[in-house]
Amino acid sequence: MKIPKLGFGVFQITKEECEKCVLEAISVGYRHIDTAQSYFNEEEVGNAISKCGLKREELFITTKVWIDNYGYEKTKQSILQSMRKMKVDYIDLVLLHQPFSDYYGAYHALEDLYEAGKIRAIGVSNFSPDRLADIASFNKIAPHVNQVETNPFNQQVKAQENMIKRSVQIEAWAPFGEGKSNMFQNPVLKEIADKHDKSIAQVILRWLMQRDIVALAKSTHIERMKENFEIFDFQLSDEDMCKVAMLDTNTSLFFNHQTPETVDMFVNMIEERKGKI
Ligand code: NAP
Repeated sequence: MKIPKLGFGVFQITKEECEKCVLEAISVGYRHIDTAQSYFNEEEVGNAISKCGLKREELFITTKVWIDNYGYEKTKQSILQSMRKMKVDYIDLVLLHQPFSDYYGAYHALEDLYEAGKIRAIGVSNFSPDRLADIASFNKIAPHVNQVETNPFNQQVKAQENMIKRSVQIEAWAPFGEGKSNMFQNPVLKEIADKHDKSIAQVILRWLMQRDIVALAKSTHIERMKENFEIFDFQLSDEDMCKVAMLDTNTSLFFNHQTPETVDMFVNMIEERKGKI
């Protein structure tokens, strides 16, 4: 199975804007859309899929199961609900959004829907190397994908090695770190960008492509969607790649999934989102 290496992410795109943004992204050339049950916009993604004029098989659609929908039966029902919202009769990739609560029960539902042909590939997100080793080792089907925060300041080098070893494809969420730590003004990235007559965003996405990482970029502006898509006409040198490698802090720009405080944060998030998904 093939996955388009550059995808369009719709996290934090409102219900009002989402259909238009996905239609624009598709018109620019994106064929891979990354949503989630907890983004509250699966229905609008579905509207764009219906209206874009492409055949279903020309698009690669990912959604993620929210923690509150974990557990074998609940997960199964929630994915069927996601399919109804997106008006599709199969989903290309379904991920477990977070490594908390009954992710084993949820994963078994993914396996069964995969075997039934309702899901073309299955995987996880935010799984640290140990949890990925666990879920890959004790199930019938190892995850095909693990989507983790990956950007120049948090490069996931060791995590990617662990994924390669287990034949799990790494995907990068927040490739720009949502602009945190002045990523769009970083002098090292700027120097490389100027050398290639490209932007910092393009250098980051190109760097991910050259590391064989599937990247999910989000923008609500069509000119930036285009800019982020124009990364297949240049190549970073080994020296450029080394300079970017030096920027790694090996630390999340958001939060560490392996602390009890993060688990507490997700428990609160589940409460806040109850009844809204
Ligand atoms: P991101 O893609 O790193 O950054 C998005 C931000 O960068 C937006 O503020 C956007 O602004 C800006 N931007 C985009 N292109 C730009 C450009 N060329 N120049 C300047 N600014 C630019 O962050 P993200 O949305 O958090 O992550 C991307 C996708 O990953 C999400 O949409 C989602 O699909 C996925 N994700 C998954 C998880 C997970 O837990 N699995 C978590 C977070 C994200 P405008 O929109 O205003 O253009």
